[in-house]
Amino acid sequence: MTMAIRTMTHHECVEMLNAGHYGHLACCNDGKPYVVPVYFVFDARVAYGFSMPGRKVEWMRENPRVCLQVEERQLKGSWRSVILDGKFQELPDNDAWHEERLHAWSLLQKHRDWWEIGSLKPDAVPPSHASPHLFYAIYMNEVTGRAATQID
Ligand SMILES: Cc1cc2nc3c(=O)[nH]c(=O)nc-3n(C[C@H](O)[C@H](O)[C@H](O)COP(=O)(O)OP(=O)(O)OC[C@H]3O[C@@H](n4cnc5c(N)ncnc54)[C@H](O)[C@@H]3O)c2cc1C
Repeated sequence: MTMAIRTMTHHECVEMLNAGHYGHLACCNDGKPYVVPVYFVFDARVAYGFSMPGRKVEWMRENPRVCLQVEERQLKGSWRSVILDGKFQELPDNDAWHEERLHAWSLLQKHRDWWEIGSLKPDAVPPSHASPHLFYAIYMNEVTGRAATQID
């Protein structure tokens, strides 16, 4: 089996981010990497997500430079993968961030399970209105993509 790999165009990368709502969010703190699977929604150069407090949020607050990797695997071994390099921004519940937080919520709530999965913690009770959940944005700086196709 021979594979050909090509660089995806910017347009293809953005299209894939628009279509895919699941990826791997990587951050780094004190020289240590950390990667977790997350759901997100991409809109106009921004990936929006939902989370409970925890390591990834603490680390992204310390160092907002993050990346988000998304892939698609197709029949016969073909695949496409996109890496978005960006900056973490928390969307707190205050006047300054109200519009963007609402925008994140309105995009995320269209997808089944987004709330539940971002809220789950081992041994934790389900979230309530008082829970310290948070919305965040990842503003895209750069995006790259590669696509592999089987050629024989
Ligand atoms: C399909 C899918 C979608 C998800 N979507 C979301 C989402 O939208 N939002 C969201 O917040 N979370 C989501 N999660 C859960 C996410 O991957 C993390 O497990 C969760 O957010 C906790 O991360 P934390 O950094 O707060 O961990 P903490 O609760 O602070 O725990 C840190 C410790 O737990 C370990 N740990 C944490 N998460 C994982 C993991 N996934 N696998 C192995 N070890 C782990 C760390 O290595 C570390 O030792 C999703 C998971 C899956 C599989």
